[in-house]
Amino acid sequence: MAPSLSPIRSHHVAVIGAGAAGLVAARELRREGHSVVVFERQKQVGGTWIYTDHIEPDPLSVDPTRSVVHSSVYGSLRTNLPRECMGYRDFPFTIRPGVSESRDPRRFPSHSEVLAYLQDFAKEFAIEEMIRFETAVLKVAPAVESEGIGKWRVESTENEKKVLRDEIYDAVVVCNGHYIEPRLAEIPGIRSWPGKEMHSHNYRIPEPFRDQVVVLIGNSASADDISRDIARVAKEVHVACRSNDADTLIKRPSYTNLWMHSMIESVHEDGSVVFQNGKTISVDVIMHCTGYKYHFPFLETNGNVTVDDNRVGPLYKDVFPPAFAPWLSFIGIPWKVVPFPMFELQSKWIAGVLSGRIPLPSKEDMIMEIKTLYATLEAQGIAKRYTHQMGITQFEYNHWLASQCGCSETEEWRKEMYLTTGVRKRTHPETYRDEWDDHHLVSQAYQDFSLYA
Ligand code: FAD
Repeated sequence: MAPSLSPIRSHHVAVIGAGAAGLVAARELRREGHSVVVFERQKQVGGTWIYTDHIEPDPLSVDPTRSVVHSSVYGSLRTNLPRECMGYRDFPFTIRPGVSESRDPRRFPSHSEVLAYLQDFAKEFAIEEMIRFETAVLKVAPAVESEGIGKWRVESTENEKKVLRDEIYDAVVVCNGHYIEPRLAEIPGIRSWPGKEMHSHNYRIPEPFRDQVVVLIGNSASADDISRDIARVAKEVHVACRSNDADTLIKRPSYTNLWMHSMIESVHEDGSVVFQNGKTISVDVIMHCTGYKYHFPFLETNGNVTVDDNRVGPLYKDVFPPAFAPWLSFIGIPWKVVPFPMFELQSKWIAGVLSGRIPLPSKEDMIMEIKTLYATLEAQGIAKRYTHQMGITQFEYNHWLASQCGCSETEEWRKEMYLTTGVRKRTHPETYRDEWDDHHLVSQAYQDFSLYA
């Protein structure tokens, strides 16, 4: 006998954030029949892609009372994924006919092109009518439970109208972004080192580093891009990286002033920096390009959702905390992924689960699966902070989400393009954004895109 389906129900849902995750969440929730309010503390959509010259007053961004600048994007930033691969699945990131000439048609475009794409998306699907701009969420906490629906109290403040709101929602979808709360490297001797320290969150342009000696810590895309950016004007640029062998000391080809090192061993009162490779130099600035921490300052869950060594948990499939499923969910937790299409699948899943169209396992089964995952990571010696790192496994994950939602899985060309770009990024870091050989994948992508024209 076919299982009986529960009636589909529509709910009142709060989405926190109108970046790439919140925008597609709002679209999918409304498509599923839910009523949606998006809270966005900035004046416009786009989240981290809204470039600003402003930086935070505290260059390390550790002062909890600082006024937060949301964007971590720097002036010269171009995407590290090709646009065909990066866009939402059913709203390709192509140059649309009739758009203004100020757009950036390059395959790896500048940050302003990504922002324009997200604005196009919001316009196409009339998302802005669901958004309360300049409205910051201050607190999200469980409220009364009624008829099995765990309600949420959402407190927010709308600056312009000086309005404080305290409202009840059936569900909350958290899309607040994960690139504003810096992680810092531990450096022996740093308290008495007299130079300037900062985090890449507060890097915008190379000019302030003219004629300076700069050390960047990290091996991320940001460390790579920013070191090259600064090397155009700085006296010397040194990149220290803990994953390099202790004796690493490599001069970057085609630069006269850019070196790769092992990690910093110690820093000293006379301004010197000593690397594990034995090299000592006198340094003006240390920049931490060491990534970010998950941070949900508004969320009160009585310890049911925690961030422990950058593991957000427990979360079933990186989305639902079992204690509150499906009434609380998170979009965009996995990293080392192609974010926008994954956000789209996560959003479809959440929307379908909330309406009762897609079943979730029991709370006990979700907890069991999470425990098994944690035990596997521990047995493999993988630290908690890598729990949400995906890389190649993202496609299995996307496939699972797609099967839950009854939609098509990730296109083969998109997977191959992601992998091919990754290889070229490593082998041709200087040129991968302007030269490539995956033309056949681009053709396949555009064939698919013609469906959405
Ligand atoms: P965000 O874009 O950060 O949006 C979160 C939104 O939530 C913001 O608008 C914020 O104002 C709002 N918000 C936060 N807290 C509150 C609150 N309490 N109340 C109300 N509103 C709130 N991805 C790619 O696909 N390709 C790339 O090339 C690429 N390069 C990147 C380079 C850098 C330097 C960085 C930092 C990221 C890059 N990414 C890239 C990843 C990028 O973060 C994702 O593509 C995506 O934009 C993240 O979207 P999001 O909606 O999760 O978060």
